[in-house]
Amino acid sequence: MSFMNKAGTKATLVLKPGREKSLLRLHPWVFSGAIAMVKGEPQSGETVAVRASDGRFLAWAACSPSSQIRAKVWSFIEQEVPHEALLRERVKRAVARRGNFPGNVTTNAMRLVHAEADGLPGLIADRYDDVLVVQITSAGAERWRDVLVDALYVASGCRQIYERSDADVRALEGLPARVGSLVGAPPDGPVIIGEHGLKYRVDIVAGQKTGFFLDQRDNRALVGELARDRDVLNCFCYTGGFTLSALHGGARSVMSVDSSGAALELARGNVALNGLEHGLEHGLDTARAEWVDADVFRHLRELRTQGRNFDLIVLDPPKFAPTSKDVERAARGYKDINLNALKLLRPGGLLATFSCSSGVSADLFQKIVAGAGADAEMSCSIVRRFFAAADHPVLLEFPEGEYLKGLLLQRN
Ligand code: SAH
Repeated sequence: MSFMNKAGTKATLVLKPGREKSLLRLHPWVFSGAIAMVKGEPQSGETVAVRASDGRFLAWAACSPSSQIRAKVWSFIEQEVPHEALLRERVKRAVARRGNFPGNVTTNAMRLVHAEADGLPGLIADRYDDVLVVQITSAGAERWRDVLVDALYVASGCRQIYERSDADVRALEGLPARVGSLVGAPPDGPVIIGEHGLKYRVDIVAGQKTGFFLDQRDNRALVGELARDRDVLNCFCYTGGFTLSALHGGARSVMSVDSSGAALELARGNVALNGLEHGLEHGLDTARAEWVDADVFRHLRELRTQGRNFDLIVLDPPKFAPTSKDVERAARGYKDINLNALKLLRPGGLLATFSCSSGVSADLFQKIVAGAGADAEMSCSIVRRFFAAADHPVLLEFPEGEYLKGLLLQRN
């Protein structure tokens, strides 16, 4: 029998008995293993109806035929058929709901759309001053890209939109990398943003992710508050996020380590941009900053050999476990750096340690760090837990969205 569902497609995914449970709890992903039958031949990004084995409607979703995550949900409501107006409304709402976030007062750089948490799986949009950087990582968002970009243009007011769809996850959805200007001229250099009274140059064309780690905004501010008169070690410093906040907070010294020369160069420039030589009243003292181009795993060992000690250490490594397959290897990596960092900590010293791996839950991360503490034969207390800033919300029904977690530990 040929039929056309309300989304104008012929395709339906029928789940295996019992596999509707996660969708009934509003979890927005359909895994390939849950599917009993595909009716029709859904193309990449096409809207499909998802139904339970008894035929009952569960969701409208975007199909990604080559991905393990075979479909990502647009809506759990049968009447809410995905169409242009719905997606435009979602973008508008995402931008509007950030209007009164506390971060808005202290920064001109903010995540305006955070994928699933804004009802837009596969769409990230970060505003850096007047430039919007868009990242599309799902077949569904790719299918609707023109509508989404136009909606962002209208809702954000940004007149320059640049695409950074070069994340590895695109390959899992069968999508090639895409980068370049979508609206207006490409930026002719780094964009300058402000955050908690500090200025940063952001390289949106060649930088990591969309250029800056906006998710760490609040955590950088807290580390800054803790840094007064301390010797700080900032590992995986990238463009100097935590370095600048520590210097701003009155650190005695900050050693920053990264293996990317380009990131370190930008980081140095960022300290100088806020430096005393610019005549700022509370400028940063470049003489207190030391830069090390090295592999953190090795450098921590080297510092131990040298007998160096610190009062405050930041560990903000890249994603060690992008998916759950890499968890074991990631756990070893986290344990290694945490163990070696703890051994460099003076009594009473603080360790701000992070993981941005979706595959490593907050629970597991705490266990790994506890293991590192035990091996270091060191008792530590959790003083604070870290999360991503409010413009990176987490859906209650989608805990995998909580990728960034961290602990502030104090050596007892
Ligand atoms: N804390 C930063 C973001 C860190 S991003 C901020 O607030 O902006 C992770 C950084 O780790 C990147 O700059 C990357 O170049 C660096 N990196 C990755 N592997 C590394 C390694 N083994 N040793 C040193 N740096 C590494």
